[in-house]
Amino acid sequence: MRTDLHRHLPDHHADHFTDPLSGVRNLGILAHVDAGKTTVTERMLYVTGATYRRGEVHDGTTVTDFDSQERDRGITIFAAAVSCAWDGHRINLIDTPGHVDFSDEVERSLRVLDGAVAVFDAVAGVEPQSESVWRQADRYGVPRIAFVNKLDRSGADLDAAVESIRERLGAVPLVVQLPIGRERGFTGVVDLLRMRSLVWADGDDTVAEGPVPDVLWDEAHRRRRLLEEAVAELHPAALEEFCAGEAMSARTLAGALRDLTLSGEGLVVLCGSAYRDRGIEPLLDAVVAYLPSPLDVPAVRGVHDGVVRERVADPAAPFAALVFKVSSSATGRLTYLRVYSGTVERGDTVLDGGARRAERIGRILRVQADRHTEVDRAVAGDIVAVVGLKAARTGATLCAPSAPLVFEPPAAADPVVSVA
Ligand code: GDP
Repeated sequence: MRTDLHRHLPDHHADHFTDPLSGVRNLGILAHVDAGKTTVTERMLYVTGATYRRGEVHDGTTVTDFDSQERDRGITIFAAAVSCAWDGHRINLIDTPGHVDFSDEVERSLRVLDGAVAVFDAVAGVEPQSESVWRQADRYGVPRIAFVNKLDRSGADLDAAVESIRERLGAVPLVVQLPIGRERGFTGVVDLLRMRSLVWADGDDTVAEGPVPDVLWDEAHRRRRLLEEAVAELHPAALEEFCAGEAMSARTLAGALRDLTLSGEGLVVLCGSAYRDRGIEPLLDAVVAYLPSPLDVPAVRGVHDGVVRERVADPAAPFAALVFKVSSSATGRLTYLRVYSGTVERGDTVLDGGARRAERIGRILRVQADRHTEVDRAVAGDIVAVVGLKAARTGATLCAPSAPLVFEPPAAADPVVSVA
């Protein structure tokens, strides 16, 4: 829901999209240790950071560099949330622990994100840990797309990895790319929606778009047909077009893939290698195209005096946010918030709903690849770090004093059964 409040948002590079809420993707990357989560994250920050450096400028916002120690430790990769901009959208990358031992942390981060990319190793396919995180994501109804990584490795096999996703996770994979070349000869992908090839040059920064290579023409068309059939089976509007006998348009297909991602009925699968810098671009495009904005996810529920209250992603609604991480940094105690509804400004007094204690909002920061950017306010859908909160703990609900509530705790964990 658009309100006048949007017009007063500070104008800095990350807000260069027309509707702040529909342009936000709160994204987690779920992966088995070693599948390539760190590398994928780094590449996303690199590619989007490069976009930033190419042309956009700051106007009047305060920029704080991370101190050298933080930079040395590569802290942004391990920060609880890092913001980047892609194609007019803001992507907030929320850290999710890869290991089941941190199950509570996994659950907490799953509450905060709206969608996720599940990264798989093209050699190993689905591994036990990926399976338990997958089940948790199912329980929270987190829409996902999949990225089969490491296609350049010897023994990499996209089809086998996709089969293991189907069998072990019970997902319906909808593969939208065809790899060009195998193992060390892997050089790019055919985009099965646009029927164009993307080939990236090793070690350098270029990507060449062109027609589908002749040798892959038949295979690409066969796979496009399979994709259309699989989508038609699950999606009535797409089925109509399919039955009319004409080739399904890329637009219809993309719309259907988005619907199926949001409902969880289908799993869009991309593939590639995080070693190729520009190879991550189609994944960023897919994040924007298929994963939900804060407007697309159900209202969150909280309780006050035994009464359940819903909070919708509307900047004009009463403020409510969840603290999902507290950390210390050179800047001071950083409290990471996911704002679910309303607006909060620097200097506001808010209530810690559970502790029934007032807290004062100090500086509000967006954490980016190599710096903090200070902003005046955070609105529904935002992920920010706040300096100055004294006592609020991880898991705390912060809310407007006039509209107190405590978010319901996540449902008791089902036993996680691994078949491995
Ligand atoms: P994480 O544990 O999931 O965060 O995985 P990392 O990003 O640390 O990657 C694990 C290992 O796989 C590292 O040695 C990476 O360099 C390597 N790796 C990541 N992506 C690729 C890839 O696309 N191809 C190959 N061959 N190795 C990769």
